[in-house]
Amino acid sequence: MTQPLARLTLATDRYERLAQIRDCFPQATGPDLTETWQGGRHMALQRLSAIDAVAYSRSRNHLDGAVTRLSPYLRHGCLSLHETVATIQKDAGSRGLKLIAELSYRDYFRQVWYRFGEAITQMMEPPKVVPGENSLPDFIAQGFTGLVCMDEIVRSLQQEGYVHNHARMWFAAYVLHWLKVDWRQAADWLEQQLLDGDLASNHLSWQWIASSFSHKPYYFNKENIIKFGGQRWCQQCRVLCPFDASYEELEQRLFTTHPAPQATPSSKASATISAQKIDDLSYTANTDTLVWLHDEMLSPTHPLLTGHGAVVFIFDPALYGHWPLKRLQFMADCLSEIPQAEIWIGSTNEVLASFPQGQVISQDTPNPTLKAVAADARMAWIKEPSLYDATFSDHELMRFSRYWKKVEPLAFAEQNQA
Ligand SMILES: Cc1cc2nc3c(=O)[nH]c(=O)nc-3n(C[C@H](O)[C@H](O)[C@H](O)COP(=O)(O)OP(=O)(O)OC[C@H]3O[C@@H](n4cnc5c(N)ncnc54)[C@H](O)[C@@H]3O)c2cc1C
Repeated sequence: MTQPLARLTLATDRYERLAQIRDCFPQATGPDLTETWQGGRHMALQRLSAIDAVAYSRSRNHLDGAVTRLSPYLRHGCLSLHETVATIQKDAGSRGLKLIAELSYRDYFRQVWYRFGEAITQMMEPPKVVPGENSLPDFIAQGFTGLVCMDEIVRSLQQEGYVHNHARMWFAAYVLHWLKVDWRQAADWLEQQLLDGDLASNHLSWQWIASSFSHKPYYFNKENIIKFGGQRWCQQCRVLCPFDASYEELEQRLFTTHPAPQATPSSKASATISAQKIDDLSYTANTDTLVWLHDEMLSPTHPLLTGHGAVVFIFDPALYGHWPLKRLQFMADCLSEIPQAEIWIGSTNEVLASFPQGQVISQDTPNPTLKAVAADARMAWIKEPSLYDATFSDHELMRFSRYWKKVEPLAFAEQNQA
């Protein structure tokens, strides 16, 4: 889809802004962003200060547990992982370690993406059970499975763009193991519905459930749903429950344990980086430099915004043409807190070329699609800091437990210094 370049001045009033985005992107599907999910750093900081890390450790697996709901803010860079972890270390000390471990999952998946590149969209290793090959049925997207639990998960996904981690696991396991859907199709679909949609966290989680990035498939039963989700769904459900069985019975019913003959180990391609790379995010943009703000760095305090260079954000249909309306509105909320950013709609390469500055800088990313849309620019990719000062072998990156074994002492060490 090509589109003439257009400059967008965001309304300062939030309701006008929501309407403005609705008008600018008539193809964007789904409802408006709800009040609860207002985008931007201001809201992210409020959530950060409300964290109860002790309650989190106790209750995070429960649907009504004290989870942070920070993922859309971390995904879009409103908060950095560093400052989030540092705040928890300061406020909760060692009692914050469970939450720090969960936050580290985000860093871990990102390291895997940097290392293996587009290979993360293929099976990372042979699956331990025969994978499904069915297409994603329409009744999933329509939320008409007949199972109240699954329909409610799809409903909150489509209304809010957010689903609790445990519910994501149940949903993904149902789609893969009961419906035998091809994991890539299902993962692509889910990523497109989420406010925090992120290729690495999403696709690698699906592979963990499928068993192509883990030792065994993840599955659950009715008892597990009731334990962590309560009775409310089951009490309303009128169909014969496919989850009402012991784990042993389900294992017999669901899995054929021979790996599929056609399954191939991943080809471990490195992410292609064609442009110049600079190792320091404190690199200062001068007046000859244009800062390209992309969707992973939407914070007014981003280090690349401290210089004097012009700043541009581009709603590029090649990147965002399939994103739901609420996620575009979430980004608009974030951008409304960055007044120095010029906002454009159109092709990234064309908008960047329309600026007089010869040099463009941006924060490095493992996302090849972001790199591809800016491929014509003379770009310097500034390295984003990783959460821990550590290097990992391919072997260590193939399991979170190995990554965590290496970084946990660092998390402790930093805690002791704090
Ligand atoms: C099938 C499936 C798909 C997923 N897709 C995504 C996705 O596209 N984007 C995404 O950010 N997360 C994804 N996750 C991970 C996780 O479900 C969400 O990060 C989490 O539910 C966000 O809610 P929260 O902020 O309240 O999390 P909390 O439990 O409060 O955790 C705090 C933060 O730690 C990070 N985190 C916690 N658990 C995980 C995890 N398992 N993987 C990665 N990061 C984690 C997130 O940044 C999160 O915001 C997926 C999980 C599954 C099972």
